[in-house]
Amino acid sequence: MESILVLTHAEESGTELSKGSLEAVTAGKELAARLGASFTIGIVAAHAPAGVLASAGARVLAVQGEAFAQARYASDAAACEALCRAANASIVLAPSSSRMARVAAGVAHRLGGVIDTHITSLGGSEGVEATRWFYRQRMEGVISRDARPWFLLLDAGTHAAFSGPAGEVHVEQVAVELPTQRTIVSGFREPPQDAQTIRPDARLLFVAGAGWTKKQPDGEIHAARAGELILGFLRVTGASLGSSKSLVDQGSENQPVLPFLTHMNQVGQTGSTPRHPKGLSTCCHGEEPHVVGWRFIGERRAISLDPNCGWTRGKADVVYIADAFEVMARVTELLAARKG
Ligand SMILES: Cc1cc2nc3c(=O)[nH]c(=O)nc-3n(C[C@H](O)[C@H](O)[C@H](O)COP(=O)(O)OP(=O)(O)OC[C@H]3O[C@@H](n4cnc5c(N)ncnc54)[C@H](O)[C@@H]3O)c2cc1C
Repeated sequence: MESILVLTHAEESGTELSKGSLEAVTAGKELAARLGASFTIGIVAAHAPAGVLASAGARVLAVQGEAFAQARYASDAAACEALCRAANASIVLAPSSSRMARVAAGVAHRLGGVIDTHITSLGGSEGVEATRWFYRQRMEGVISRDARPWFLLLDAGTHAAFSGPAGEVHVEQVAVELPTQRTIVSGFREPPQDAQTIRPDARLLFVAGAGWTKKQPDGEIHAARAGELILGFLRVTGASLGSSKSLVDQGSENQPVLPFLTHMNQVGQTGSTPRHPKGLSTCCHGEEPHVVGWRFIGERRAISLDPNCGWTRGKADVVYIADAFEVMARVTELLAARKG
């Protein structure tokens, strides 16, 4: 019989399990029910926020203490290894958070196991068939393995986050002997709020294309105004900012066109493939290599001046043939008024 362990961790404030962790709990619960397997949840945190797991129907283990408040390879790897051994896990599910992605392969190696990453679904009738995408989300692969323990890192947004009435949970403490700590986490240095434009958990992806920096009907370029409009919209919506390759390629250290954009924002064949329920593309033509990045965007809308742009050829649900400078100014104004 398989023994399923879901590895989870607290989010930064330490008071709740991370959203990715709760998504992994859903995946683990479904898999355990389907396989008739034992189901354990392991928590790594300063103080395990286990209350939310009251109705998960799982045995709950925790490695707790100040050393586990923050991500650090040595302490996290030791904690995850101890949880896997305590649960005698044959299948280990974990969120693809930076915290888990950093240690999972090392922990799998310590236990003589194997690992697959970027898993998007778990299927199969008797065994486990894990699905992931290859070649920039164009080909889907299905993986099954006999080797155990088998670690599977689940991509964010592929399962609903587990929720249920909070209650008393019996948490079994797992002791960990920490190796000598050579890394001390002394704090965070974060960019200002406005500069944090990549927000994987946002409901909306807002994509800016090269049109924002092209000559406009008055014959002039309005890059500064474009920057104000884009940041203004992000401020009122909390949307995540994506960009076409053409737009980010225009910037350089000496000549920043829209200084808050970097190649990290690029969406597409040579960029990222984010997951968001909705997407709005502005001043972008909707070329195929770019639209590859929209593979997992639920509802797609676009604003372009060009009635023959790629979006109008079946790639968007709604296309506004309109001036994005005018539309975004008005939309932001209306949203700001609604927010009060
Ligand atoms: C191998 C390969 C890989 C590639 N990988 C990627 C990738 O990963 N990501 C990526 O993005 N691209 C990629 N590209 C490039 C991609 O094909 C496109 O060239 C690029 O994305 C186009 O960018 P754009 O739509 O922003 O700009 P443009 O093609 O210049 O389009 C600008 C659009 O803005 C509109 N516009 C202008 N002013 C306004 C206004 N005021 N209001 C509304 N609309 C306006 C115009 O009508 C036009 O449609 C790749 C290309 C190749 C060959």
